[in-house]
Amino acid sequence: MEHHDTSRRFIIEDSPIRGEWTLLDSTYKAVIAKHQYPLEIQALLGEMMAAAVMLSSTLKFEGLLIIQARGTDMLKLATVECTHDKGLRAVAQWDGDVSGKDFRGLLTDANLVITIAPEDGQRYQGIIPLERDTLAGCLEDYFERSEQLKTRIWLAEGDEKAAGLLVQFMPYSSEVNKSQEALDEDWNRVTMLADTLTTEEHLGIDPETLLRRLFHEEDVRLLAHDEVRFYCSCSKERFAESLATVPKEEILSIIEEQGSIETQCQFCNQKYHFDAVDIHTIYDPAIPHNPTQQQ
Ligand SMILES: [Zn+2]
Repeated sequence: MEHHDTSRRFIIEDSPIRGEWTLLDSTYKAVIAKHQYPLEIQALLGEMMAAAVMLSSTLKFEGLLIIQARGTDMLKLATVECTHDKGLRAVAQWDGDVSGKDFRGLLTDANLVITIAPEDGQRYQGIIPLERDTLAGCLEDYFERSEQLKTRIWLAEGDEKAAGLLVQFMPYSSEVNKSQEALDEDWNRVTMLADTLTTEEHLGIDPETLLRRLFHEEDVRLLAHDEVRFYCSCSKERFAESLATVPKEEILSIIEEQGSIETQCQFCNQKYHFDAVDIHTIYDPAIPHNPTQQQ
């Protein structure tokens, strides 16, 4: 299959409906290879990843989109970050036995938050209501309430792949000159067709074929597609910034004991080492530190 890891926009011609289709294969595999996740956690991350890609396309901004679940019971953390050019990373932390737990079961006491962090401008955070049994359902509620946009979302995960389909009703699309009744009919017809989508089709068929098959009586126009890839933004500098929040003496005493401090990126497992010279540079960047002169 050729179309691994793409996200594709489409519109249904002569209707107010636009959509987004995502299939994650190598990107999803890269994420779940980093840690030993139970299948239940893996499924949650897969769905969150497909959702994050589609949402970042739909919301159109330059920056980072984060979907994050935080809890205290079973699921401590599940977080997915997607850049506007579709660099994706994700990680989860959990405690205890999660076997047999579905979305609802995993998130019993968790909050689900969406963060939009534009490169320039104000950070926005929105709470995703957890009143439905699936992530797709909760995100539909979110769009309905926060964006006043009628939205349907289908998410699938399995066989180390994750996929998403989103359709949205654009109330102000000026090119469509139809009665409200006809517009509603378009929406009902398209969402009913999409409801026939099976997990096997969703995970196994390329976007062109799938969209033509699903909406074979509609005039589907495929628009631009984005390549999606695993991307981790960690660096020694970023870890240095977070170390700098701990008192310098505390850090130096650990280094005295252990020789160096090792930090590891939870997203990509990359390790970074800091020795005494690094620490002096972090806390007093203006002063050049030469280890031989410090003796
Ligand atoms: Zn990393």
